[in-house]
Amino acid sequence: MIKKIDHIAIAVQNLESALDTFRNVIGCDPETIRIEEVDSEKVRVAFITIGESKIELLEPLSDESPIAKFLAKNGDGMHHIALETDDIDKETERLASVNIHPLGLPKEGAGGKKIMFLHPKETNRVLIEFAQKKH
Ligand code: ZN
Repeated sequence: MIKKIDHIAIAVQNLESALDTFRNVIGCDPETIRIEEVDSEKVRVAFITIGESKIELLEPLSDESPIAKFLAKNGDGMHHIALETDDIDKETERLASVNIHPLGLPKEGAGGKKIMFLHPKETNRVLIEFAQKKH
């Protein structure tokens, strides 16, 4: 089952500069910001918690990162919307029954969550991430 919008992700060239911008936008204190590196996506990530949801800022760590490719094509901007689910495997089955397909198998994302993405061609050109918390 889908629980909530977990986060909205923004691709950025420079994480520190984007953090300054979003700190100013939100006016939040630094305790609500968590930074980590995600090897599977070759990115450095900052999560800014806002109530039950987060804004995720994504900075590429290598030219091979999917985020580097996105930035080269589009520049900084909205990258994906993440929905929290309690069972990613069940969601995969449910989506297949309505002809929506994941981009590859679930993998480990930020915070040790199990994540997968849906093909934007099938979702109105919006990249959607499904995220399941570590049990
Ligand atoms: Zn994400």
